[in-house]
Amino acid sequence: MQVHAPIIEHRRIADDIFLLTLSVPDIAGSAEPGQFIHIKCGSSFDPLLRRPFSLSMIDKEAGNISVIYEVRGRGTKILSTCPVGQTLDIMGPLGSSFSISHISPQSGAVLVGGGIGAPPMASLAQALIGKGLKRVTVLLGAASKEKLLPEEIFTRTGAEVLIATDDGSAGYQGFVTELLPSQVSGGEVGTPVVFACGPEGMLKAVGSFCLSNGIPCQLSLESVMACGVGACQGCVCRVLRRGSVEYVRVCTEGPVFDAGEVIWDD
Ligand SMILES: Cc1cc2nc3c(=O)[nH]c(=O)nc-3n(C[C@H](O)[C@H](O)[C@H](O)COP(=O)(O)OP(=O)(O)OC[C@H]3O[C@@H](n4cnc5c(N)ncnc54)[C@H](O)[C@@H]3O)c2cc1C
Repeated sequence: MQVHAPIIEHRRIADDIFLLTLSVPDIAGSAEPGQFIHIKCGSSFDPLLRRPFSLSMIDKEAGNISVIYEVRGRGTKILSTCPVGQTLDIMGPLGSSFSISHISPQSGAVLVGGGIGAPPMASLAQALIGKGLKRVTVLLGAASKEKLLPEEIFTRTGAEVLIATDDGSAGYQGFVTELLPSQVSGGEVGTPVVFACGPEGMLKAVGSFCLSNGIPCQLSLESVMACGVGACQGCVCRVLRRGSVEYVRVCTEGPVFDAGEVIWDD
């Protein structure tokens, strides 16, 4: 669905990182964690292509959705100047969502979010806790404390948050993936389900750890994409399904995939 959505909140929350909330009841009503919206960042044809952003918050009651984005290039730079009250041309909700309907409330869940890949972990934590899961832990990683998303975005969902930074300026010093083994060792809730979104190296490490330990794991992939709706075929990746290699589109069959089906390019 394509709509013009008014901006109701837009503020800087970390170094070059912004929180953008839109009033868009039609999209909020049907959106699920893991899905994304495609935003036209300028009012003209520059930039021409929309930019994809995962949903970090879905408030079905209020009819609002939020994204958290980092200013990287021309599109996000223009987006960061849009004031509250302006309307944005957006398409959504797009793509596949995290699959959570089969997860028992007795299970635990570990959500690994790296850098600017972490935002969808907030809406996912909210949904899992809403399902009654006893223990939802977010492992939140960033290069440094300046790049770290505010912990409160995740703790307010009821999730426990553990922080890791590469330079040790906040939380554990090291990669966020190093926190994973101690969080999946069972305990009162048994083996948890793992979800991850972040840089490719992090996703490979999380996927490989979970596969070798028999832990169910879903990964949200990022790919450069143009149309966002499956027409241009610009974002294909390879997956292994029923024993054979298939080409799928990250924008429509993804961005969420089972760790066991993702084939990484070396
Ligand atoms: C499913 C999905 C979810 C995402 N969620 C988030 C999020 O929650 N927060 C966030 O900060 N970023 C997210 N990204 C990445 C975000 O879309 C890019 O940072 C953004 O498109 C960069 O635009 P730009 O104009 O500022 O950068 P530029 O580098 O100037 O863009 C140049 C060109 O590259 C394309 N491009 C560059 N990087 C990407 C990319 N990763 N994906 C698609 N097109 C790209 C742009 O469309 C443009 O044509 C997500 C990407 C995907 C695929």
